[in-house]
Amino acid sequence: MFVLGLTGGIGCGKSTVSAHLATLGARILDGDRVARDVVQPGELGLARIVARFGTEMLLPDGQLDRPRLGQLVFADDAARLDLNRLLHPLILDRLRTGVRQARQDAVTVCVLDVPLLLEMAGLAAECDAVWTVECAPSTQLSRLVARNGLTQEAAAARVAAQWSAERRIAAAMAVLDNNGTLAELHSRIAHLWQQLPH
Ligand code: ATP
Repeated sequence: MFVLGLTGGIGCGKSTVSAHLATLGARILDGDRVARDVVQPGELGLARIVARFGTEMLLPDGQLDRPRLGQLVFADDAARLDLNRLLHPLILDRLRTGVRQARQDAVTVCVLDVPLLLEMAGLAAECDAVWTVECAPSTQLSRLVARNGLTQEAAAARVAAQWSAERRIAAAMAVLDNNGTLAELHSRIAHLWQQLPH
């Protein structure tokens, strides 16, 4: 099985790329979804958040107040690093379980679609290749504002909380430029896909 790490700038198009890779036959492990799963009520991740940041991070129904946590951690680097330290090991565990399952299912290409793939210690080394999806900062910000309803400032803070595009590009084996149309993106994906051993 070929393990493909897919990362990129927030809002640059990872989910769009992984949706297309799924149509080509890849198994997709969605890092955002795993990150949400580990903070469901009853999960260790949520208990860790409450222990570190207090019960004010919970909604009345016991779910995580994600906007509130987001406001805190994107305004406070120390809090964000703490959150990552508490949750990343849980996320890594689940992703590794997903990879093992994919091997058992005789999947040929397993994609780890993870926004912080390069930032998460050890994960890139477990991939056979890493692709990064990038677009111009102005496109990235306008997609984030349009899709997530963030202000320009909030969107910029989220971009600043990731590695820079330059750093991702230096670490990745291939870059998917997503400044053009979806059709152009699909043809770039097809080109890279053909080069994978599958
Ligand atoms: P996040 O890091 O927040 O999970 P992402 O990198 O997965 O984001 P997507 O959700 O795939 O990004 O894309 C962000 C938005 O931009 C979506 O609304 C998507 O439909 C749109 N988009 C992606 N690529 C293109 C494109 N080439 N042309 C127009 N819109 C696009």
